[in-house]
Amino acid sequence: MNKKKIEKAIKMILEAVGEDTKRDGLKGTPKRVAELYQEFFSGIKKDPKKELKHYFFPNHDEMVIAKGIFFNSLCEHHLLPFFGKVHIVYIPDNNRITGFSRLVRVIEVLAHRPQLQERLTSQVADVLMEALKPRGVLVIMEAEQLCLTLRGVKKLGAQTITTASRGTLKDDKKKALALALIKDKYLSA
Ligand SMILES: [Zn+2]
Repeated sequence: MNKKKIEKAIKMILEAVGEDTKRDGLKGTPKRVAELYQEFFSGIKKDPKKELKHYFFPNHDEMVIAKGIFFNSLCEHHLLPFFGKVHIVYIPDNNRITGFSRLVRVIEVLAHRPQLQERLTSQVADVLMEALKPRGVLVIMEAEQLCLTLRGVKKLGAQTITTASRGTLKDDKKKALALALIKDKYLSA
């Protein structure tokens, strides 16, 4: 990543909006933003499948739910944040399961790119299907998109919910059970 180029670009934006880039508060801003962007876009060109190690747990072919994983991303249309929670449900095949931290890493790689919530949801489901080869996957993403809530309707806190289901979790009954478990107040994340 070309950090110097980002710094230059941020300085140009500040000049273009009529700011004095030499004043105290703004002097370090291009560098700070460049550092932030380095982190926010650290998933570009990384392969999320490499993060998904699996291991074998005998006789476990029942639903596994990883609930309330926090994520943040930047929308590719406005470069404004969207953030919230991801719930991942999968039904293992041949006892292949994975750890919670592995799922978190897959989301991090995919979220740290210019994204759209809908695509991010689908990509998480697809990566899981390809790398873990479970019988089914359901991904639910609840997020606040700042480009929606700060502009236009201006309803702060409004959530957009996206889902992606694959394999046996396309089945309505299984999906309903997964949703009931996610919504259960005793399991609240
Ligand atoms: Zn946007």
